[in-house]
Amino acid sequence: MSDKSQPAKAEQAPIAGSAKGNSKSHKMPESVADGGMADAERDILAELEKALGEHIALLLRWNRKLALPDSPVDTDADDDDHDCDFGAWYALNRHNRLIDQPAMHALATTHQQLHDSAKRLLSAREVDGEVDSAEFDMMALRAESFFAQLRRLERAFRTARSDVDPLTGTYNRQTMMGDLNAERERAIRTEVPTAIALVDLDHFKSVNDTYGHQAGDMVLQSVAGILQSHVRPFDKVYRYGGEEFLICLPNADMKQCARVLERLRRVIEASPVTVSDDPILPVTASIGAAPMTKSRTTEQIIEKADKALYAAKEGGRNRVRVWRNPDGKAAATAAKTGKDAT
Ligand code: GH3
Ligand code: MG
Ligand code: MG
Repeated sequence: MSDKSQPAKAEQAPIAGSAKGNSKSHKMPESVADGGMADAERDILAELEKALGEHIALLLRWNRKLALPDSPVDTDADDDDHDCDFGAWYALNRHNRLIDQPAMHALATTHQQLHDSAKRLLSAREVDGEVDSAEFDMMALRAESFFAQLRRLERAFRTARSDVDPLTGTYNRQTMMGDLNAERERAIRTEVPTAIALVDLDHFKSVNDTYGHQAGDMVLQSVAGILQSHVRPFDKVYRYGGEEFLICLPNADMKQCARVLERLRRVIEASPVTVSDDPILPVTASIGAAPMTKSRTTEQIIEKADKALYAAKEGGRNRVRVWRNPDGKAAATAAKTGKDAT
């Protein structure tokens, strides 16, 4: 990905967001200004992650209010402020030296614009009973832009903290379990379905054995690039092991999850890698996924995804298997996509 820019130094930008809220709970500690860097970065990362989850939930709520004519429409500004702390957090901390940088100000501007769009839409919906399609498209674009900017910023902070794998540019395992646990808690709290997927390259050892380790590295980089550029803006890709990647997919039920993963599988299959003068190497991957649930720990969910991955390998590789186990029965009989899709 091309977004490895480090946070740059201050440049004034329009104030976005609202200064409402409990200032004490949002203010970054003084140590930040004096160089308490690691903690400060962690606090900012946590705030960005929180903003992402809050806005996925808000977007769902706004869409529901706009789409369902019989649902009660509530345009009370406090309604959104109640579920969105980002504006208040930004307004209070914007002069902090880690936050006072163009990318963060741009994010805050997009954030404000997103809320403005939503307010206009909800208000028109209440007054006229109508939804303006141009404004609706604008809100969707702003939401997408907001998520992409959030992820870019997060990435910049994480690169600075060495949370990024130097070979593939995906996140490494350093903070993965913490991230996934937070994601699971959010999924449970907001009832937004979320999934974990494991992507494992097929017969990768033979690439190394036949063409050398460097060729293998190129294949890994190519697949990592595909994964990162083809997931949705709020999905997150980690290097889980040697030739294995883990993807966290918030806001995806297992049907949507299978669709996203099948798209990834196809792009990988359609993107062979050229190694110097040698032949073009075909590359395929097997993918297993499982939903985040209240009844399973993050470790157990990864284990289920791994079982689904195993089923994909057993089924002949180059396919997606999604864990579905609503009644507790053994279930690598997951939804099938890929070559043998029915
Ligand atoms: P399967 O289809 O069952 O997944 O077979 P596989 O050959 O992909 O799996 P296996 O676990 O046998 O081999 C994985 C290989 O990945 C072995 C290891 O040398 C290689 N590998 C792990 N990390 C790296 C890396 O960073 N670079 C390269 N080039 N190879 C790596
Ligand atoms: Mg493997
Ligand atoms: Mg493999």
